[in-house]
Amino acid sequence: MTKDTPHAESACNLATDTNEVSANEEQHSECSSLDTGFDGFGFSPELLKTLTQKGYKNPSPIQKAAFPDLMMGRDLVGQAQTGTGKTAAFALPLIERLEEHQVRPQVLVLAPTRELAVQVADSFKAYSAGHPHLKVLAVYGGADFRSQILSLKKGIDVVVGTPGRVMDHIRQGTMDTSNLKSLVLDEADEMLRMGFIDDVEWILEQLPSERQMVLFSATMPSEIRRLSKRYLNSPAEITIKTKAQEARRIRHRCITVHNSRKLEALNRVLDSFIGDGAIVFARTKAITIDVAESLAASGHEVAVLNGDVPQNQRERTVERLKNGAVDVLVATDVAARGLDVDRIGLVVNFDIPFDSEAYVHRIGRTGRAGRTGEAILFVNPRERRFVSTLERAVGQSIESMGIPKNSEINESRLHRLKTRIVENAKNSTRLDSELKTFNELLVGILDEESLTTEEIALAAIELAVGPKPFLFEGDESWLEQPINRTRNESRQDRFGSGRRSSDKGSRKIEGNMERFRVEVGHRDRVKPGNLVGAIANESGLNGRMIGRIQIFDTYSFIDLPKGMPDDVFKVLKRLKVMNRELQIQRTSH
Ligand code: AMP
Repeated sequence: MTKDTPHAESACNLATDTNEVSANEEQHSECSSLDTGFDGFGFSPELLKTLTQKGYKNPSPIQKAAFPDLMMGRDLVGQAQTGTGKTAAFALPLIERLEEHQVRPQVLVLAPTRELAVQVADSFKAYSAGHPHLKVLAVYGGADFRSQILSLKKGIDVVVGTPGRVMDHIRQGTMDTSNLKSLVLDEADEMLRMGFIDDVEWILEQLPSERQMVLFSATMPSEIRRLSKRYLNSPAEITIKTKAQEARRIRHRCITVHNSRKLEALNRVLDSFIGDGAIVFARTKAITIDVAESLAASGHEVAVLNGDVPQNQRERTVERLKNGAVDVLVATDVAARGLDVDRIGLVVNFDIPFDSEAYVHRIGRTGRAGRTGEAILFVNPRERRFVSTLERAVGQSIESMGIPKNSEINESRLHRLKTRIVENAKNSTRLDSELKTFNELLVGILDEESLTTEEIALAAIELAVGPKPFLFEGDESWLEQPINRTRNESRQDRFGSGRRSSDKGSRKIEGNMERFRVEVGHRDRVKPGNLVGAIANESGLNGRMIGRIQIFDTYSFIDLPKGMPDDVFKVLKRLKVMNRELQIQRTSH
């Protein structure tokens, strides 16, 4: 259901049919003659000033629709994805409704991943720049408990956290929820998929009955609808459909390549790419490491983001990606969820995603803030049949492309070198005094040597490029060979072809699944959500690919897609859930 907004007559001509527009900066800048787009919602002068300083000129469609209801304290269900401005849609009204000088938290935001929690907390901090008394805290697993407790004791207004850690704080009495005025569930479908929904419901049961609740979700599975019916009080409903629009700004292409040649193909793709940063998605942590090592060896500035990377290092990595110190990030799906870096111009799906939603999430890392982006998917011959499913999901065709040849790589190298020289000549950042010295040096050489300016410039380019050969001359004979399926690929790919059983009552294992035994059970108080969350996190497997789970006293059975790669199996063996190693093994069922 699309909600009409009272600001439909706004002179800036933002479309009022929220299904037809997307919240990108191009649209905001179209309205640059109006600098009062946030007037009329009852925002304080301090907040209006912060928004102006941030360069926000007009509210995005979801913001226009959400502000009036949220400012009045009404509950709200919003179907919207990242990139629509949904964080500000709830953060701004909630900031404005906060009471000053309270110790106990007034706003709680639950987010599925620590990355999203940190991002949302950062947004709250940025938007409350004009409200210096406001205290915002991100709480998530893996971060130091004691410092979180200390901050909560001193007084926090807004807590943004992942369900598990928030639950721990409430249980231990280190987070008092009795003064809570508003609760936000951000990316609710993601929390469901990661197996957090029981934790979320537990948290909801602990909160005061009189509170405002906001639920945002990119999709609305029945479980989320049920949650919304049960806990929200006649909520306003907003739907912002940007998927197709966002996708159209992204060019989707696909390369068919044997698994054994993927690394080489990736190196060629990145070397021929003219643009800013890139993210490469790999299926498991082990693959992220292999890929990153290979790229680093070829001279790329590369970093890894996977579940093993400690939190503080992740934040540093994202920062380095933002400021251009890193050009290629190699990540697993879970670790890169919600990543918001404008300069990502290319997403490479090194491994095919587990399902179409994962693909949509992956490609959502590019084409941000109104920019265009490229998405390249690697498939082996057997995986080609999944491409049409992905095409349907994005409503666009995924064109076939060849692996870049030496000539294309060299063209890109030349283009990049030319851009660097021209940009530097036009906008040098060097001190004027130094430039003057260089100029004197140049004049001196011209005076003393029988060299032309052109010869000197050539020598300078040679020095800048360094001693290594500039033009790429790798073996490219294999690029012409026809691609057929190898037996090995058929075996490996089965791991990605399973689907979670919809018939949860069935005791039989689905044909494409295998049953595993893990050594945690009721005695460890394990719940299906714990197993789904942990296994999804570690294997990169989408939660929905995980099948039936049966919990017994000292062990459990779990059905997973057939053909689990050995490295994932090894990791899962040592993985601890509820403080006990899974010691996963195949059953004879
Ligand atoms: P989100 O959907 O919350 O992830 O926001 C997407 C991006 O849009 C973020 O980088 C925000 O800073 C930016 N943004 C949100 N609202 C506005 C606005 N009204 N004008 C310009 N940029 C915005």
